[in-house]
Amino acid sequence: MSSYDPVGTQCLQLQQGTAALQSYLIREFGVTNLGTFVCRPVSGSTTLSLHAEGRAGDNGGKSSAMREVANLLVANADRLGVQEVIFERKIWRNNYQPLGWQAYTGADPHNSHVHWALNWAGAQTLTTELIDNIIGEQMPLSNDDLDRIAKLIDDAIVRRLGDVGERPDGTPRRKNISSAVVHAIEYMVAPDYLK
Ligand SMILES: [Zn+2]
Repeated sequence: MSSYDPVGTQCLQLQQGTAALQSYLIREFGVTNLGTFVCRPVSGSTTLSLHAEGRAGDNGGKSSAMREVANLLVANADRLGVQEVIFERKIWRNNYQPLGWQAYTGADPHNSHVHWALNWAGAQTLTTELIDNIIGEQMPLSNDDLDRIAKLIDDAIVRRLGDVGERPDGTPRRKNISSAVVHAIEYMVAPDYLK
């Protein structure tokens, strides 16, 4: 679901996927609905806004909640069909090369709300049930989180299993990775237990 679908030239109507995602964000993050479908151009331009096709949403609320929404949408953009997120003078689009947040220089810096938009696949297919299945309780992991988890598992393999050596034919003995993962989780939850 990762295409970027540019806006057309006609106002349409609120799309089901947009409505479903807006409800999900309000329910899960306590953000407010600052609008979805609006027949209007992009502020300061004659091009229609993605809001005019019913594919975009705006959320207000606490900045911590808006930031969580922005990060969650980017982390799950492929599977949700999110094609654009704008927040705090930065814009993310699924067609940027390289992919990532870039400076946003539009008239409105988007400090007071987070803006997001879906491609047509997302706008036409998402339902609240599908969104629950896609992102549900999952939390977005940063690269630092992933590095930390990978290192803990690495350390746990060595602590728990040591060097498991080789078989007579020279192939490595099988390592019990699941025992090491459990050990790593114990270490994350209660590091003192292992010291
Ligand atoms: Zn918007």
